[in-house]
Amino acid sequence: MARNNELKLIEQLAQAHAARQNASNLGASLLECVVAQVELKQCNTCRRVKAISEFHRYKRRKDSLRGICKECAAAYKRAYRETHSEKIAAQWRVYREENHEKIAAYQQTYYTEHREEIIAKVLAWRKHNPEKINTNRQKRRARIAGATVGPIDYDAIWLRDGGRCCICSLKVDNRLEWPDPMSLSWDHTIPLSLGGPHTQNNLRVCHLRCNSRRGVGRLPAQIVLV
Ligand SMILES: [Zn+2]
Ligand SMILES: [Zn+2]
Repeated sequence: MARNNELKLIEQLAQAHAARQNASNLGASLLECVVAQVELKQCNTCRRVKAISEFHRYKRRKDSLRGICKECAAAYKRAYRETHSEKIAAQWRVYREENHEKIAAYQQTYYTEHREEIIAKVLAWRKHNPEKINTNRQKRRARIAGATVGPIDYDAIWLRDGGRCCICSLKVDNRLEWPDPMSLSWDHTIPLSLGGPHTQNNLRVCHLRCNSRRGVGRLPAQIVLV
């Protein structure tokens, strides 16, 4: 019996060690792990004994660690996100509305700093997905063909919108070229996919990044009628 417990403990130590190795890549052997007196802790959920580096910090607990291991915490978070997707989306919506300027400023910095990287990613994706591009182009053509189409004076739209993005309200630099995330893009106020017309009144100035972020299924609240 005692021998069995011993084997179990060794197995648990090995598991903890593997987890620790994965996380930190220290490459220490189990013996080293024991000799180095790596602190271990049992997870309240999966009951496995793991190195304390496998637990998130949590100040309110006596040992300053969460009771459940990182793996279980991630699984819990995933499950929560799946069952509460609507609630989370609603919270985000409120947050976005209340922090519009803060988010815009953050995004501006982010896109300026990661410009080259984003452009390279877009170009690489396009290079590897010619069929998807083709399908998307056809879909867009079909949508425009199915929509009410009117004469469009793009310069007039630019002047009307003051060269500002309809989504983040920041200036658009029309010298930047596609696929620069900050380059000029034209957004359908009411998306073509929702029956919006392809006319001057339904088009607005926006950044490429802001336009592609919105995607389909945007909320009516975000639509500002011109
Ligand atoms: Zn666990
Ligand atoms: Zn924008």
